[in-house]
Amino acid sequence: MTGISGLPPAKLAAHEAAVARLRDAYSAVPPGVPVRLAKSTSNLFRFRDSGKAAVAAQAAKPGQAAGAETVRQLDVSAFGRVIHVDPASRTAVVGAMTTYEDLCDATLPHNLMPLVVPQLKTITLGGAVTGLGIESTSLQNGLPHESVTEMQILTGDGRVVTATEDNEHRDLFFGFPNSYGTLGYSLALTIELMPVRPYVYLRHFAFNDPDSCMDAIAEIASASSYQGHRADFVDGTAFSAKELYLTVGAFSDKAPWLSDYTGQQIYYQSLRRSREDFLTIRDYIWRWDTDWFWCSRPFGVQHKALRRFWPRRYRRSDVYRKLVALDQKYGLTAVLYEKRHQPQREMVVQDVEIPVGRGGEFLGFFEESVHMRPVWLCPLRLRGERTWPLYPLRPGEVYVNFGFWGTVPLPPGKADGYYNRMVEEEVSALGGHKSLYSTAFYSEEEFRSRYNGQAYDKLKAEYDGDGRLLGLYDKCVRGR
Ligand SMILES: Cc1cc2nc3c(=O)[nH]c(=O)nc-3n(C[C@H](O)[C@H](O)[C@H](O)COP(=O)(O)OP(=O)(O)OC[C@H]3O[C@@H](n4cnc5c(N)ncnc54)[C@H](O)[C@@H]3O)c2cc1C
Repeated sequence: MTGISGLPPAKLAAHEAAVARLRDAYSAVPPGVPVRLAKSTSNLFRFRDSGKAAVAAQAAKPGQAAGAETVRQLDVSAFGRVIHVDPASRTAVVGAMTTYEDLCDATLPHNLMPLVVPQLKTITLGGAVTGLGIESTSLQNGLPHESVTEMQILTGDGRVVTATEDNEHRDLFFGFPNSYGTLGYSLALTIELMPVRPYVYLRHFAFNDPDSCMDAIAEIASASSYQGHRADFVDGTAFSAKELYLTVGAFSDKAPWLSDYTGQQIYYQSLRRSREDFLTIRDYIWRWDTDWFWCSRPFGVQHKALRRFWPRRYRRSDVYRKLVALDQKYGLTAVLYEKRHQPQREMVVQDVEIPVGRGGEFLGFFEESVHMRPVWLCPLRLRGERTWPLYPLRPGEVYVNFGFWGTVPLPPGKADGYYNRMVEEEVSALGGHKSLYSTAFYSEEEFRSRYNGQAYDKLKAEYDGDGRLLGLYDKCVRGR
C-alpha cells in the first residue's frame, strides 16, 4: 500500500466522501467569517475565548465586512481515526485528527509504533505535524513530520491537494510543519511505522552538573548507546542544576519485573530512587501522561491519600488541561492571589530547542533567572539532510529540547511576559528555537527573522491568497 491512493476501495470511497463533504462545508463559509477546527481536545497553551478574539481579529482586517459573525467550527470528526495499517510496508494512513492514543492502539497489536509518539495522549497526528512534536526517539528519528510520506491538505483557498516531498506541492509538504493550521488543514497523513519489542528496559543515569549531562547526550548521539546500554529511547529530567537524570531505554523481549505508574506510584519520582526499571512498551509510551509530567501536582493528585480517590481514568493530561482552561477562563487563582495579597504569577509553559553544546548555559540561565523545576530534557536531531523552512534546524546538529511548564511569581512592577520574554532572548542568544504551541512575545520583525517570514509569505500567497485563515504571527503571537 502506498498512501491514500493505495487504500482498499471501500476505505478509499468512504474517505473521499468525507473529504468532499468537508470541502463543501468549507467553501460554504462566507468570506471574512473565521474558521476553526471543531476538535474536542487541544494541547495549545494559548488560552483565549476564541469566539470574541477571532471576531475582533476579523473586524480588524481592512476591507472585511464589519459585524460579528461567530467562528465557524468545521466538523472534522470523520478524520479522527486510523484509516488503514499495513504491517507489510510498515505504513499507516491516518485521519489527521486522530489522537496518538488511538493511533498507538491501532498499531501496537501489529508490534508497530509511529517513529515518534509525543507523550500526551490527546495530541493528534495533525497537531504534532503542524505544531511540531518531540519525544525520546527524536535523537534517532527526528520530529513527527519527518516520518510523514504524504499529506492530504484542505488548503486555505479551498482546494484539496496531496503533498509529497517530490511532487508539485513539495513546497507545502516542507512548509507545513510549524504552520499551525494557517496554510490549510491536513486531513489524512501517511506515516512510516517502526517495529517494537514487548518491553523497554530503562536505565537512569545521574549527573550533578549540566555540562556533564550534555556531554553524555553528545556521546549517545554519536554512539547510540551509553555505558553499554543501547539507546533506543533517550530523555532526561533536571530536578535542579545539581541533580539531573538521563533515562536511556532499550527495547527488550524480557522483563524480570514490571512497574506501573498509573496507580499510586508516580513515574518522575521513580527517577530519583531507582537506577533501572522495566515497562511494557505501551506503559513506556504513556509514562508521562498520567501525571502530565509533574504538572498534576497543583491538583493534589500526587498527594497519597487524595490520589486513592482520584479515579484512575481521570489521571490524564487532557483532564488536567481542561482544569487549567477553566481556571484561565474564570481567573480563579488570579482572584485567590489577589485576596491573599500574593504576587500575581506568570504562566511559563514552553518547549525550546538549544544546540547541545550550549545546553549547560541554558540550564544555568534558567536556574538563576526563572528558577522553575523540574525541567524536561529531550535530545533531537533532524532525520537526514532535509530541512523544514518554517522551523530552521540544522541537519546533523544535536539539539536538546528543554520543556518547562508552570507559573512563577512576578517581581513587583513586572507584568505578564517578563519571564517568557527573558527566555525568548536567551534562546535567541544561544542559537536555539522556541516551539509555538504556547505564548510568544516576539515583535513581528523578530518573529519573521526567526521563523522564515519570507518563505511563509510565499506559501501563504500560494495556498491561502485571500487570507481565509489567520496569519502565523496573528495566531501564534497575537493569539487571535
Ligand atoms: C504541557 C505541554 C507539554 C508539551 N510537551 C510536548 C512534548 O513534550 N512533545 C510534544 O510533541 N509536544 C508537546 N506539547 C505541544 C503539543 O505537541 C503541540 O501543542 C501540538 O501542536 C498539539 O497538538 P494537538 O493535536 O493537541 O493540536 P491542537 O492543540 O488542537 O492544535 C494545535 C495547532 O495545530 C493546528 N492544527 C491541529 N490539527 C491540525 C490539522 N490537522 N491540520 C492543520 N492544523 C492543525 C491548530 O489549528 C492549532 O493551531 C506540549 C504541550 C503542552 C501543553
